[in-house]
Amino acid sequence: MGNGKKSDGAKSLHNTGFVAAGRLIGNFCLDLLYPRRCPVCDEIVVPTGKIICKKCLDRLVPVQGPRCFRCSKPLMKAEDEFCYDCGGKPHSYNRGIAVFSYGSVLAKSLYQLKYHNRKEYGVFYGKYAARYAEKQIRKWGIEALIPVPIHPKRLAKRGYNQAQVIAQEMGKCLCLPVETGAVKRIHNTKPQKELGASERRKNLEKAFVPGKKKMVWKRVLVVDDIYTTGSTIDAVSKVLKKSGVEEVYFLTIAIGNGQN
Ligand SMILES: [Zn+2]
Ligand SMILES: [Zn+2]
Repeated sequence: MGNGKKSDGAKSLHNTGFVAAGRLIGNFCLDLLYPRRCPVCDEIVVPTGKIICKKCLDRLVPVQGPRCFRCSKPLMKAEDEFCYDCGGKPHSYNRGIAVFSYGSVLAKSLYQLKYHNRKEYGVFYGKYAARYAEKQIRKWGIEALIPVPIHPKRLAKRGYNQAQVIAQEMGKCLCLPVETGAVKRIHNTKPQKELGASERRKNLEKAFVPGKKKMVWKRVLVVDDIYTTGSTIDAVSKVLKKSGVEEVYFLTIAIGNGQN
């Protein structure tokens, strides 16, 4: 009996090793066929198998120093509790965290992710975000991740939702479910950057509606690529709270610095 157990154990270990090795070989072949591009310099990553160049990783510096208590935007004065935006208006979400300040490196990289088919950049950011924010996410007691949905027409054209790619990788790293059926985007809204703050808000208020999936979670994390004024997160949060979610938090890869 004992021997049998031992050999079973040895067998399963061997199998696991074999499967893992097979997977490694598979990944290696995939890397040769479709070499990965670096999310920062957009060139082929060297050496093969890495997801970002070493020197480019050093160029990505997460937000440091004093931050807004509500949205996590970097603050000029350490004694302030809220940023200009959060001090002046209430948000429908509870709190949030962003990984990087939105500067030229991030702007270029996130643009490539969104418009130039660089889906793998989302995987990199999802991994990075999971590691960066895990402590905070556990502290908030997050039960599920909700990527900000894009309109079905845009999804069909792009082939993927960048927020969902990020959320899915985070979910994998943190063992958290990713819920995509809770909120639906019904209006193909105009690009937000072409609108002023109040127009932006109005434009978005009507853009999101509850999805078919009944919400069973009380504390969720909305995931998106960029936070500017917070109106997108607010609009999604409003829908989620109407659907029974008690606390809505957010994580974005980048956040604006100033009063934008
Ligand atoms: Zn690079
Ligand atoms: Zn703020």
